[in-house]
Amino acid sequence: MAAYDAARMRMVRHHLAARGLHDARVLAAMAQVPRERFVAPGMAEFAYEDSPLPIGEGQTISQPYIVALMLEAARIRPADLVLEVGTGSGYAAALMSRLARHVHTVERHASLAEEARARFVQLEYDNIDVHIGDGSRGWPDAAPFDAILVAAGAPAPPEALRSQLAIGGRLVIPVGDEGHVQELLKIRRTGEDTFEQESLGAVTFVPLIGEQGWAEDGRRAA
Ligand code: SAM
Repeated sequence: MAAYDAARMRMVRHHLAARGLHDARVLAAMAQVPRERFVAPGMAEFAYEDSPLPIGEGQTISQPYIVALMLEAARIRPADLVLEVGTGSGYAAALMSRLARHVHTVERHASLAEEARARFVQLEYDNIDVHIGDGSRGWPDAAPFDAILVAAGAPAPPEALRSQLAIGGRLVIPVGDEGHVQELLKIRRTGEDTFEQESLGAVTFVPLIGEQGWAEDGRRAA
């Protein structure tokens, strides 16, 4: 709908470009993917505010600025194979699918995974595989990945995810105490056993629940 298209363009200008994001491919993807199709029923009118929104199961679709920041940091190229941990609504995976050759995305809540899968079919985004499971263990069957983006906060970068990076691959992940502000890290694998790490600032995400994340009761699982 034209009103959503106009709102999406305004979001790209005011919330992304004006705040210093400048990767042309990321901005083009953000201008293309209809966020209003990924929010819960009745929430479409808020789709282009720069805020997270509820999507069911106590989870959220992330704030557009943070999604774009993570995508820019991941430097996804057209030939890349990408893993996302935390499919949620499917919005970020949809954006990645516009930037990469293929996207694998893992979600622990089956209901969210099924809804995201249905959205990808409707939108004819056919280079995304949705998996139900514990993404803190990565997705070894499809590794190594050129980029891994984690949409939930971990106590520490999971070893499984570091080891599933290709040499030169980038892991973008929020790390810190559950329920508190996390630090968004970009970790680049520079060699078989060598990694470089950079901080992208403070963020707030829901917890990564799993074997190499937090336990359901909020204790550190790994
Ligand atoms: N990327 C999503 C989007 O665009 O809508 C937003 C994701 S939401 C902030 C975080 C998601 O991570 C939730 O859907 C949550 O269920 C999921 N999650 C948490 N721990 C997980 C795990 N170990 N494996 C897979 N998904 C997990």
